[in-house]
Amino acid sequence: MSNRNNDGLSRRNAIKLGVASLSSAGLVAGVQAHKSDDVVKTPFVVSQTLIPIAGGNAEFPVRRIYCIGRNYAAHAREMGSDPTREPPFFFQKPTDAIQFVAPNKIVDHPYPTLTKNYHYEVELVAALKTGGKNISSQNALDHVYGYALGLDMTRRDLQRFMGDQKKPWEIGKSFDHSAPIGPIFPVAQVGHFTKGSISLAVNGVVKQKANLDQMIWSVAEQIAKLSEANELFPGDIIYSGTPENVGPVVRGDIVRCSIDNLPDLVIKIV
Ligand code: MN
Repeated sequence: MSNRNNDGLSRRNAIKLGVASLSSAGLVAGVQAHKSDDVVKTPFVVSQTLIPIAGGNAEFPVRRIYCIGRNYAAHAREMGSDPTREPPFFFQKPTDAIQFVAPNKIVDHPYPTLTKNYHYEVELVAALKTGGKNISSQNALDHVYGYALGLDMTRRDLQRFMGDQKKPWEIGKSFDHSAPIGPIFPVAQVGHFTKGSISLAVNGVVKQKANLDQMIWSVAEQIAKLSEANELFPGDIIYSGTPENVGPVVRGDIVRCSIDNLPDLVIKIV
């Protein structure tokens, strides 16, 4: 028997997930009320987003992607707000917006639809191994599994257009491939990233450069604040904000992201 059925579903994965049959009889059974001895059936499989963990074969399963806005003072000012008055705010990207970028490679990144002003935002990403509600900032870093380099790619024209109309700017932030990320480095190997250089260059020209200690809200404070709004869980990741001098890319550009003590993340816009 072929190891793929007509839906392209891996038979091995189907069995692993308890999908005993995708026959029409199986599908009908799947929508009926479960009996206690039923094997749960699903009509198709939705893949879990996984990010490779550095230094082995393990992968980090992603539950949610949170992102903080305007978390470096100079960037807050360039986006038109006063960083001294604003509490932190967060948005989310769908987990399948993740594009894994292997280190020491130039990975093609597709220029998205609908925009004529596509921006980079280099960011440190914290990945959680445990969660909770109302986590204190003093204990917050105990919940971090590891860190990665990430890009919060943004359709800036759409973000601004929607914001100007007081509509959700989700279409500017939450779209396919909008969250490039490198491997996750466990805290056990690399420690916590509370300071150190963060930078981004386009075609060899440095565009963004700052220090992680210039964040308005530290990673620990972000975890604490987020946990007041939502219970956090293992697998949640947090894009911790970008420094000033965000700007546009066009097809053909090479974008290189750097954080001290992490391998560079490099994409080519195609
Ligand atoms: Mn951002």
